[in-house]
Amino acid sequence: MAKQDDPNAAVPVTRRMPKAPIEKIGGRKLKPATLMMGHGYDPELSEGALKPPIFLTSTFAFENAAAGKRFFEGITGKRPGGSDGLVYSRFNGPNQEILEDRLSVWDEAEDALVFSSGMSAITTVLLANVNQGDVVVHSGPLYAATETLINKILGRFGVTFLDFPAGASPSEVASLLEQAKAQAAANGGKVAIIYLESPANPTNALVDIEGVADARRQVFGTDNAPPIAIDNTFLGPLWQQPLKHGADIVIYSLTKYVGGHSDLVAGGVLGSKAHMDPIRAIRNTIGTICDPNTAWMLMRSLETLELRMTRAGENAEKVCAFLRDHPKVEGLGYLGFIDNKSQQDIYDRHCSGAGSTFSLFIKGGEAEAFRFLDTMKIAKLAVSLGGTETLASLPAAMTHISVPDERRAALGITDNLVRISIGVEDPDDLIADFDQALAAV
Ligand SMILES: *Cc1c(COP(=O)(O)O)cnc(C)c1O
Repeated sequence: MAKQDDPNAAVPVTRRMPKAPIEKIGGRKLKPATLMMGHGYDPELSEGALKPPIFLTSTFAFENAAAGKRFFEGITGKRPGGSDGLVYSRFNGPNQEILEDRLSVWDEAEDALVFSSGMSAITTVLLANVNQGDVVVHSGPLYAATETLINKILGRFGVTFLDFPAGASPSEVASLLEQAKAQAAANGGKVAIIYLESPANPTNALVDIEGVADARRQVFGTDNAPPIAIDNTFLGPLWQQPLKHGADIVIYSLTKYVGGHSDLVAGGVLGSKAHMDPIRAIRNTIGTICDPNTAWMLMRSLETLELRMTRAGENAEKVCAFLRDHPKVEGLGYLGFIDNKSQQDIYDRHCSGAGSTFSLFIKGGEAEAFRFLDTMKIAKLAVSLGGTETLASLPAAMTHISVPDERRAALGITDNLVRISIGVEDPDDLIADFDQALAAV
């Protein structure tokens, strides 16, 4: 029993964490690629199992009533920073917590949360930040479902939005923020969040995160400024780390590069504890947490994240070098070959690699693009990206088919734009495949 004067005296320390986490050897801070093999897990707590078991349980037994009380204080937000112990699988679980610890290593984030999909992560972030009358400011274009969520679904609850094109200058962003502030005041709300996606899909236009942070400081000062959230799915966590450039919340579809094997759907959100606490509270309420099996698969994936992304990036560089001067190719939207000064400047300040997802403009129109796609042998014809296998799709006829013609034209989504995600195959085999498919056009 707990002593009456100290209700927490009998609360055991959470048993999940290793007693002595190894994060440094001598003065040397270990790199993420090393930490992915063991960080946040102690085999001693699981019968010596080298890999964490998958904890298939809906609920967790408390060691005593005081522990139950203390853990629930964390779940309900009475105590910030999440629960001190495991409670119920809609709130937390060992697999999800180890995954969250490992995920936060890459972006050097204070805290991380994992979700059942990229979209459930985005929805939970927005629900945690947006109220009736508020204005969402976002870069455009966004992932189509995110656009639907902000523009249509939140609209049903009295939330409005204003957007700026991905390549906008800091002064253009600042004047849009001023406009948003006025709009919010008129609607009895506030500017709730600045939501970015960079690079934008499928144009690969980059957002100047540092520039947006400057514009925010100019318009809102430092207190009560809306948080900057960014969907970092295309370049993160290896090639772009937005928390270091002024973003507050980083969002991933873990379905893509992080999962990396096209065999799961999940999402992640990272940032400071202060920003994660309200998001965790909504996740606890609505149950958008990732399941333990998927969390386990993601830990498996994180062990090879750097290997896979590095190889895919090198492959893309070789394939794009081949495609660049090919007579059947009209152009490339690849971050390794930027032909715009301000975009190059953003890239140099924010990115450490060009990624492996790019746009290939085939000479001709839809018929030529169809012929190309139908002739590819190694590359699979499928949407999604970031997997071990190379994928190709035609946004105008697939992911963006419901976008009105005018908006599609404004976004540069033409009938000959083939979207490619390069995998980890042998690069010369990939080049041979592109070569024979282009020959058939
Ligand atoms: C795929 C994707 C999403 C949605 O993620 P899901 O895991 O499919 O829910 C969001 N943003 C970007 C940039 C994506 O590529």
